[in-house]
Amino acid sequence: MAKFETQAINDEILEKLNLENRYNFLNTCVRPMVSSDEMSFLKQVEKFCLNYENSKNITHGPDEDIYEWISDFGKEGYISRAHKFEVLDLNYDPYELTAELMRALGLCFFDPQVLMMFGATILAINPLEAHHENIPVRIGALRDVVTGNSPGCILITEPERGSDATHQLTTCEEQSDGNFLLNGDKIFNTNAPKSKWAVAYATAEKNVGSKMAQFLIDTSWDGWNCKRVYIPWAPKLYIGSEKLENLRVPKEYVLGGIGKGRDHLFEGLVVERIMIATQNICEAWNSIVHAGIYSNMRKQFDQPIMRFQGVGMLLAELFARTQTITYGLLKFCVDYDKLAEKYGGEHSIPPNISRTLVAIASQFKYACADLSKNVCYEAGNLMGGAGLCDNTLMHDLINISRIQEIVGGSRQIQLYIIANALSSVFKTL
Ligand SMILES: Cc1cc2nc3c(=O)[nH]c(=O)nc-3n(C[C@H](O)[C@H](O)[C@H](O)COP(=O)(O)OP(=O)(O)OC[C@H]3O[C@@H](n4cnc5c(N)ncnc54)[C@H](O)[C@@H]3O)c2cc1C
Repeated sequence: MAKFETQAINDEILEKLNLENRYNFLNTCVRPMVSSDEMSFLKQVEKFCLNYENSKNITHGPDEDIYEWISDFGKEGYISRAHKFEVLDLNYDPYELTAELMRALGLCFFDPQVLMMFGATILAINPLEAHHENIPVRIGALRDVVTGNSPGCILITEPERGSDATHQLTTCEEQSDGNFLLNGDKIFNTNAPKSKWAVAYATAEKNVGSKMAQFLIDTSWDGWNCKRVYIPWAPKLYIGSEKLENLRVPKEYVLGGIGKGRDHLFEGLVVERIMIATQNICEAWNSIVHAGIYSNMRKQFDQPIMRFQGVGMLLAELFARTQTITYGLLKFCVDYDKLAEKYGGEHSIPPNISRTLVAIASQFKYACADLSKNVCYEAGNLMGGAGLCDNTLMHDLINISRIQEIVGGSRQIQLYIIANALSSVFKTL
């Protein structure tokens, strides 16, 4: 079945917009910025996605279930490259943040909602990787989510606590045997209705951040009640609303006991915000490539529309903004990888250095979400009706770009963090 209900773009242009051509366009643009190793990993991911799309006859149409694909990508090691995963004997090469950027580019061009689904899984992977303590149930859960046996999800947000994530209302009550009982409501948790494993935060005392704890939950346990919240901007993703009712968490599933939850929440923030920024950059590239191909082929007034300044100059501006921000993000990723290597892993980067990176990660999250919002919309606009209809991934990109300034902390919260960093700089004078 075709992706679209009715073909609105002519055969020649639609064919030119195929995944292989879009990858070739992308590669030409990013080649000057990346090393040969990075380029070859990007091409490796692209080759897999191209073969996958062809062999499975994937059209990216409305009836396809993207969750059915996760195990195939997991087997190839394309769900997360943030870590080497030595504990699982996976020993990924390459790994770390720069490799993540290459992986994300390849996957976003294949399907932006797939990349977001993996991104939310990574939010469950990171705390498990950091706090498995070689306990078998945790290693088993980590293996499931890294290798694609199941997506994963993270439960931070609550109906009444969104931006204010450290004053939670979901409670955890420690029992005499060391197990915990969880009670409360969570919401907007990407992948939750499809996940076998969830990582959740709760507190021993409502509204007290210093009493937060972090838990691994098997979603087949009694007390886990999950419904889907439908987000029309990302119609293939399953976002959850959960009621935790006397949900019993055995002590070996406690990733961080009372008092450790808030630190665990903050320790992953740099990498997680950079990963969302990465996702946003990839959305911008994907839409520029669509518009770049389309505007060089589409003729009006007997000329390719690219020749008209209103189209060509705007596309040039979007391209320049995306390329330069990508350069910046790439530099951050390379430097972060060097820091992690120098200190023996990202969790060993000294806190004083980590703290300075938090504000930079917020700057990237802010700038890249804004980039995605503007570039996807404007590139779609340059394609006229072709950018708005269902014939290409362009409308998926416009849609998904609408939610980027909320997920992973809103635009205003990023600016609040950045403003605080400015005040800290002033205090050093
Ligand atoms: C598609 C989607 C996927 C998501 N995935 C996950 C997930 O996987 N896991 C998870 O835990 N959560 C997830 N979230 C939740 C997301 O992190 C929250 O929606 C976000 O943090 C904002 O919280 P809120 O929706 O309660 O808005 P609120 O916090 O109520 O904010 C409403 C408005 O007020 C502004 N505001 C709030 N406080 C301030 C302030 N101090 N200064 C200035 N402005 C302020 C906000 O910027 C926003 O514009 C997801 C959300 C969406 C939409």
